[in-house]
Amino acid sequence: MAALPATISASSRFLYSSSLPHDGAAPKRRISASHRHSLSQCRSLFLPKPFPLSRLNTFSQWGRKKSLNICVQASVADISVEKSTNNIPLPEGDIWAVHKFGGTCVGTSQRIKNVSDIVISDDSERKLVVVSAMSKVTDMMYDLINKAQSRDGSYISALDTILEKHQSTAVDLLDGDDLATFLSQLHHDISNLKAMLRAIFIAGHVTESFSDFVVGHGELWSAQMLSYVVRKNGLDCIWMDTRDVLIVNPTSSNQVDPDFLESERRLHKWLSQNPSKIIIATGFIASTPQNIPTTLKRDGSDFSAAIMGALFRACQVTIWTDVDGVYSADPQKVKEAVILRTLSYQEAWEMSYFGANVLHPRTIIPVMRYDIPIVIRNIFNLYVPGTTICGHASVIKDGQRLDSPVKGFATIDNLALVNVEGTGMAGVPGTASAIFGAVKDVGANVIMISQASSEHSVCFAVPEKEVKAVAEALQSRFCQALDAGRLSQVAVIPNCSILAAVGQKMASTSGVSATFFNALAKANINICAIAQGCSEYNITVVVKREDCIKALRAVHSRFYLSRTTIAMGIVGPGLIGATLLDQLRDQAAALKEEFNIDLHVMGITGSRTMLLSEVGIDLSRWRELLEQQGQVADLEKFTQHVHGNHFIPNTVLVDCTADSNVASCYHDWLRKGINVITPNKKANTGPLDKYLKLRALQRQSYTHYFYEATVGAGLPIISTLRGLLETGDRILRIEGIFSGTLSYIFNNFSGTRAFSEVVAEAKEAGYTEPDPRDDLSGTDVARKVIILARESGLKLELSDIPVQSLVPKPLRATSSAEDFMKQLPQFDKDLATERQDAEESGEVLRYVGVVDAINQKGLVELQRYGKSHPFAQLSGSDNIIAFTTTRYKEQPLIVRGPGAGAQVTAGGVFSDILRLASYLGAPS
Ligand code: ADP
Ligand code: ASP
Ligand code: MG
Repeated sequence: MAALPATISASSRFLYSSSLPHDGAAPKRRISASHRHSLSQCRSLFLPKPFPLSRLNTFSQWGRKKSLNICVQASVADISVEKSTNNIPLPEGDIWAVHKFGGTCVGTSQRIKNVSDIVISDDSERKLVVVSAMSKVTDMMYDLINKAQSRDGSYISALDTILEKHQSTAVDLLDGDDLATFLSQLHHDISNLKAMLRAIFIAGHVTESFSDFVVGHGELWSAQMLSYVVRKNGLDCIWMDTRDVLIVNPTSSNQVDPDFLESERRLHKWLSQNPSKIIIATGFIASTPQNIPTTLKRDGSDFSAAIMGALFRACQVTIWTDVDGVYSADPQKVKEAVILRTLSYQEAWEMSYFGANVLHPRTIIPVMRYDIPIVIRNIFNLYVPGTTICGHASVIKDGQRLDSPVKGFATIDNLALVNVEGTGMAGVPGTASAIFGAVKDVGANVIMISQASSEHSVCFAVPEKEVKAVAEALQSRFCQALDAGRLSQVAVIPNCSILAAVGQKMASTSGVSATFFNALAKANINICAIAQGCSEYNITVVVKREDCIKALRAVHSRFYLSRTTIAMGIVGPGLIGATLLDQLRDQAAALKEEFNIDLHVMGITGSRTMLLSEVGIDLSRWRELLEQQGQVADLEKFTQHVHGNHFIPNTVLVDCTADSNVASCYHDWLRKGINVITPNKKANTGPLDKYLKLRALQRQSYTHYFYEATVGAGLPIISTLRGLLETGDRILRIEGIFSGTLSYIFNNFSGTRAFSEVVAEAKEAGYTEPDPRDDLSGTDVARKVIILARESGLKLELSDIPVQSLVPKPLRATSSAEDFMKQLPQFDKDLATERQDAEESGEVLRYVGVVDAINQKGLVELQRYGKSHPFAQLSGSDNIIAFTTTRYKEQPLIVRGPGAGAQVTAGGVFSDILRLASYLGAPS
């Protein structure tokens, strides 16, 4: 690492420490009476009863130890904790409370005031406060460097923006001498930075130490401003440039390891010169043993606070941030995430390592050694106690769900998988070492490794930005093996993310990974790689980036909420579709509250207009919204919208049309992982090969295709048949009255009126299709027969079913329904005779569909039944279906009830939706 140019390093480095009183010149007054008054006033802003700001009353119950010998996992970079001694006479121990305030906490002048209030109201004897730079400032500093390095002259105006931001914040907060001193310091720093950036601009290159020096300024300024504000309140407070105290050694993996012994020595010296009760320390920055400024790397202020906590043997380290604590998943990605009241050190480490950026992963190790609890709290919500991270998390009974073996989930984005594959790898010692040696040589960080025991391939995840160099290094390292065919490929799978489940209790619970993978499978997420550490605290999978949030939500809801969330698209808001939407509207809240099923209708499409929503359509206004906000219907766009959201793990499209074009999309939908539910008979009655393909696809995948309402509306016909088949019964015959219309007609054709009169009456009452020939032709019944026949395993086409049409031949070509109705009486005689004949033999006429499984055929015809037969007892428009099976041979199993009408049909579709929810994991 190159040292800084002497001129700049000398002048600017010592300026920081010399510009503020190192001699404890800050007023050492105790808090005055009048100040106490203003404090209690400011406290009342947070009351009724915010949680205590420092010591947790519960500490004693955890029996905190002074020093622990906890074994840290190998994956954590070594740190020199062991070198520390306990004998240096620092004022250390429980008198110290450490607080760390993140960038958002000091993001504006008002927030800095707020932080000062919190610092003041902590009644610990001594306080060390670590601050980050104001939010976004570190990013802006890095941006300056990038600009200068790439010779983009706009770094000058960007630096002015940074100056302006701090200047205006200081003007808001400070006055008099304080303001003047701070501003003079600020201007001095800025002109130094300008000179330095100019040098970078000219060189077109930046060294790491230059960069670290520049980017650490945000912390220097925020710490100084906060110290002025606390002092303004009459308190004994001084700021600390942690580069004077915190000594770290760079490691080969672009990290730094604290030198605790040297830091302790320097801290001791610093304290003897600055004996203040409140210290505001810069987060993020430190020095090398050669006094060269460096940083603890991005988000390193948490780590700073933990090191300080360990150096002081503090009673607690409180990390203040913008969320209520550590959640079971990133609350910005999973809105149902819940706060974890307690976490063990190991769990917190795993969560943070695997992407929960609420805590920097290296924060844990220093505090763990002294069993110092870390408490994560929300600066914007003082009423919640936050999350406590300590050594004995599992014994704390605080109402949190202790039964869940998984504590939380985290994700890391922007990764690529590298797969080194070849038969020549098996049994060859040193292959892994050669692979990872090459990776190390390009300085890439390996986040996860997986190797199947066949040794046929090794795959690992690295940050996307490092993958090109890694792949090139491997290609060149293994070029001989690749040429010789011992290795078949070094493949890169870009755009990946890691999803990890973390929990200490996973180690002793079986079935966790089964549940985890099951939830992913049901959300149709493909897993690219898997790893489970043998500590069993963590299961890690690699998924495609676009699937990551969906995967996270799927597993989170499975373990934490047992809530099944489904994105729905309704195709065809006609009579049945509209009724379904109204039923959903009425039931949605109860489903969510009582059954943990969360249905979001993301889109409704008719043939002309469609309505799309990002979060779910307000079903109390869907008609109005469709009319006002509808756009031109486009089924492909509609599908893409409903399925394309990355937040809801499961999708279902409900086809409420009778359209064969829509039905022809099912195959494609299922292939994409979209579940399909429909009362539309077209797909199941179309060409046999297509039907078989559809069913095969559905069986192979974890997607579901339900169509209960295609036969008998809401009556449980298909599910009864499936139940029989799945339990090993054999279907002999299914016979039934499947048409509500024809049921009505023949139940009322009792000799008092002519057939045509009864048809006219049924039409009048709305029981028939607009053209009654659609019912009388028997095609609809034939479709139901074919559905049941195929479900029973018969390989029949619709054209294989002989159908006895009740439409007299001469009237089949009649153009209008009116003409047909007018002419129908001419043909009454035939049916009257038939009815009379039946009557004379003590029988009735019924129009039935039959699946004859023994002879592998189906038929639809008018049949005669004795008056005591269940079919003869029917009334109204009921359906009746009799299953004769090997188990139900003497007496068939009969399902009977209303089998038509919008309410019952929509009800049948609705029950399929609930069946889907239960298949997807909703509790039954
Ligand atoms: P600070 O600037 O205070 O250090 P960070 O942005 O580093 O704050 O960390 C807080 C953020 O961490 C939250 O806003 C949240 O989006 C994110 N986060 C990710 N995972 C989790 C989690 N499991 N629990 C809480 N916050 C999380
Ligand atoms: N300001 C630094 C960063 O943004 C350190 C921190 O805030 O933790 O990376
Ligand atoms: Mg942070």
